[in-house]
Amino acid sequence: MLKTIGGVEIQAKHRASCHCGSVVLELSLPDGVVNPRRCDCSLCRRRGAIVASVPLDGIRILKGQEYLKLYQFNTFTAKHYFCSHCGIYTHHQRRSTPHEYGYNVACLEGVNPLTLEHVPTYDGVHHPADRQDASQPHQ
Ligand SMILES: [Zn+2]
Repeated sequence: MLKTIGGVEIQAKHRASCHCGSVVLELSLPDGVVNPRRCDCSLCRRRGAIVASVPLDGIRILKGQEYLKLYQFNTFTAKHYFCSHCGIYTHHQRRSTPHEYGYNVACLEGVNPLTLEHVPTYDGVHHPADRQDASQPHQ
């Protein structure tokens, strides 16, 4: 967990916003930024965001619910949200741990995620939920 990123203190209630400001979230981050990571699945490799996790009750939408658009693919389990005006990914309900949201660390107010070093990359190509039948080739 990280309590500061690039000298910016992570608040227990930290605001996050999309680029245009239509969508504003309040994240509960009592432990700071937990488990920041990248992922190489077909979606994440395109959007390139560094993601961290909060419990489902750890995100409150302060503004712009009507701007949030839902994107789903593959098994249609995960729910990926982005601002329909500026296109920025804000958060998603995870497929591997549905009791958590992942959120875009870059949306945290004041935080420059590019100052983070040694961000691990998750193996999103071989998703845990796809591993039950090892005889099947991965997609
Ligand atoms: Zn926006």
